[in-house]
Amino acid sequence: MVTDQLNQIWTGFLGFLALFVTPDWGKLVVMIPVLLVLAVVGPIVTILALAWLHYGAVRPRRHVQLADTRRPAELDADGRPVYPAGEPYSPTERMIYEPGATRSLSGETLVVACPKCGLVRRAERDTCGNCGLSFHLKPVARSGGATHRPSGGAAAA
Ligand SMILES: [Zn+2]
Repeated sequence: MVTDQLNQIWTGFLGFLALFVTPDWGKLVVMIPVLLVLAVVGPIVTILALAWLHYGAVRPRRHVQLADTRRPAELDADGRPVYPAGEPYSPTERMIYEPGATRSLSGETLVVACPKCGLVRRAERDTCGNCGLSFHLKPVARSGGATHRPSGGAAAA
């Protein structure tokens, strides 16, 4: 009698459990993709948010440093770009960079024309291989340059 009762209670208990357990598993299986998405997307969103914050904090300064210091080369009467002597420039970009620059924004090696003899060399080198003039390009404020330009040195082609 007691075991019957216990058995009944046990069966009822199992049935009672089944009511909750069976639908629960169904829900859990449905929830697995959602949980996976949350587990995967959550960190990604967090990383993206952090990267975005980092990008927003770092990017403007770099932008000002690099992009604002170059200017397009002026064109002469024949449409050819004119590069002032002693200032680094990129022939492919036709951009003049600030004194002291050795690389373009795209990582290309900049060149510079010797102020004395006009020989074009890599902007990384301080000394002219032709006339031996050595000058250090310092990133100081650009002057107009008009008064500085050597008038007699026009090695007209
Ligand atoms: Zn030179």
